[in-house]
Amino acid sequence: MNHSVIIIGGGPSGLSTALHLRQIAPHLTKSILILEKARYPRSKLCAGGLVIDAEVLLARLGLDVSEVPHVDADHIRFDFEGRGLNFRMWKRHALRVIRRDEFDNWLAKMAELRGIEIREGVIVKNVVPDKDGVTIETNEETIRAQVVVGADGSNGVTRRCIFPNAAVYTARLLEVLTPEYDVIARSAATKQSPDEQETATPPPVARNDKIAYFDFFPVPNNIAGYVWDFPTQIKGEPMRCWGIYDTNILADAKRPQLKEPLAQEMSRLGFNLDDYELKGHPIRWFSPENQLSVARVLLVGDAAGADPLLGEGISIALGYGSLAAQEIAESFQRNEFSFNGYRRRVSKSALGRALLMRWILARGIYPLKWKWFQILLWRFLKPVIIFTANVFVLNWGKRI
Ligand SMILES: Cc1cc2nc3c(=O)[nH]c(=O)nc-3n(C[C@H](O)[C@H](O)[C@H](O)COP(=O)(O)OP(=O)(O)OC[C@H]3O[C@@H](n4cnc5c(N)ncnc54)[C@H](O)[C@@H]3O)c2cc1C
Repeated sequence: MNHSVIIIGGGPSGLSTALHLRQIAPHLTKSILILEKARYPRSKLCAGGLVIDAEVLLARLGLDVSEVPHVDADHIRFDFEGRGLNFRMWKRHALRVIRRDEFDNWLAKMAELRGIEIREGVIVKNVVPDKDGVTIETNEETIRAQVVVGADGSNGVTRRCIFPNAAVYTARLLEVLTPEYDVIARSAATKQSPDEQETATPPPVARNDKIAYFDFFPVPNNIAGYVWDFPTQIKGEPMRCWGIYDTNILADAKRPQLKEPLAQEMSRLGFNLDDYELKGHPIRWFSPENQLSVARVLLVGDAAGADPLLGEGISIALGYGSLAAQEIAESFQRNEFSFNGYRRRVSKSALGRALLMRWILARGIYPLKWKWFQILLWRFLKPVIIFTANVFVLNWGKRI
């Protein structure tokens, strides 16, 4: 047997699994191998919003995420048609926004510095468990391991190999990067007064650049999600990251093209979507019926299922890594690799309870798609939302 643990995918869930395993079972460190199909720093479509739980989990691994270039959003706004509620955290930023090429590269370097081997540019093609171990076929060679962790994301090969016929629940997302508001406002002012370019006053910027915005206005049109607008940066240059999330819960009803509400919201704020490169990627989300393991193979991160309510998945990927590491470490102690208890471990954990609550909320809030209900929810039920967010949705990281 070549390796004790092979982790397929070097995103946050795979790297977190390796780092947590090293922390709780250091003797396994030398026999952990991460196979990553890309090369760092690799791009990953993602708005990069880190909630408090991601920072808590990284700090517990002895990692300081402020080393990664970031922009902090002081508040988060949850709006319906531009009006709603403000969400903030006590004496800290509400959301830290990183770029995934930089964040994942940093996390991979931290793992390597701690003695974990990562092979880049290796594409896993097939995963075949048997009673003695797992065979992993890659574009380069065939490898054996005692245990495999499928951390290969929403479209991952591991899940497709071990659960070829399982139902898959995925959200659809589009994302676009633009300059900051003031750049667009200045260029609009320039266009408006070609003869007076020096003296033209830019129109006032409609939004605060330190806020991350979510607007749920597409829900009455059967898009079960929101349009987001986050502050971000690229190579130190302030930018905005926009996108639209549709959990697909209302997929049976007639819906506009996903691009339309995003273009509408951006145009309201002076941006023309057609001026920018639009990209899309799905997120596989958590449902209580998702299967998470077979003997010798378990799933983490998007492969296991991310947040269905808002499509948040980085903190969740880090959390799955902690739970998978505990399961694997105990399996090696017992020399028994059925992973029968993994799903129970996840569902009983603080992460599992937060995911279940988000699944219930997504199932409850999005189908109530009447405009009056969405207005009531986001504009008038502020204490209920803030309480639910703090108690049931966030703050699970310290309890995992
Ligand atoms: C548009 C968009 C915006 C998002 N915004 C946010 C946000 O603001 N905040 C947030 O928390 N979450 C966000 N998410 C979700 C978040 O990106 C994911 O939940 C998170 O990346 C999951 O991490 P992961 O490690 O499970 O998977 P991934 O990050 O997808 O990593 C999987 C890794 O596996 C590798 N891989 C895949 N197949 C193979 C193979 N066959 N062989 C070897 N390697 C393989 C990939 O190259 C990749 O590095 C967003 C997602 C999208 C699509």
